[in-house]
Amino acid sequence: RRGWIEVVCGSMFSGKTEELIRRLTRARIARQQVEIFKPAVDTRYDVDDVVSHNAARIRSTPVAIASEILLLAAGSDVVGIDEGQFFDDSLVDVCQQLANNGTRVIVAGLDMDYLGRPFGPMPALLATAEYVTKVHAVCVCCGEIASYSYRNAASENQVLLGETDSYEARCRPCFLEGMQAK
Ligand code: ADP
Ligand code: MG
Repeated sequence: RRGWIEVVCGSMFSGKTEELIRRLTRARIARQQVEIFKPAVDTRYDVDDVVSHNAARIRSTPVAIASEILLLAAGSDVVGIDEGQFFDDSLVDVCQQLANNGTRVIVAGLDMDYLGRPFGPMPALLATAEYVTKVHAVCVCCGEIASYSYRNAASENQVLLGETDSYEARCRPCFLEGMQAK
């Protein structure tokens, strides 16, 4: 069996989860064995499901650390991982091992944090994946294509869960404008 890694990245509201669910649903239609994981810290909409902003959902297993995925994914044809940025760097190794052993791995995650910095294990995953898809949101200020997640709230933690109220999708000029005004 041939394995490989696919990454779906972009800002918040760019449709990463939507695209992940689309790919996994199609694999299921093809009668492949599919397992889906998300970091246990991400309980925004549902404890178990992976849920997109347009309310599409798929059953998933929350895991505390990336290595749990190796144990739980044994025997699956396709492994989906959402919110990849919240895992530690060992996620890269876990994905490599799965792919080396013949699994198709699809990771969705934020490529940048709220300051525009590469986020967690995502840059290393982007470098080592066979396929990379960058999806885009719509800038809430001007309607152009958005690749930044602008944070309204004042918190300075890299991880701040919460949604429409604390973050907005912005294009580069509108993101910079917001950062300068702070
Ligand atoms: P992600 O996982 O990248 O955060 P989702 O797949 O959860 O994205 O959600 C994408 C959906 O978010 C879109 O289909 C749309 O319904 C909704 N949405 C809300 N705000 C925006 C925005 N500014 N740009 C694009 N889509 C948005
Ligand atoms: Mg998502």
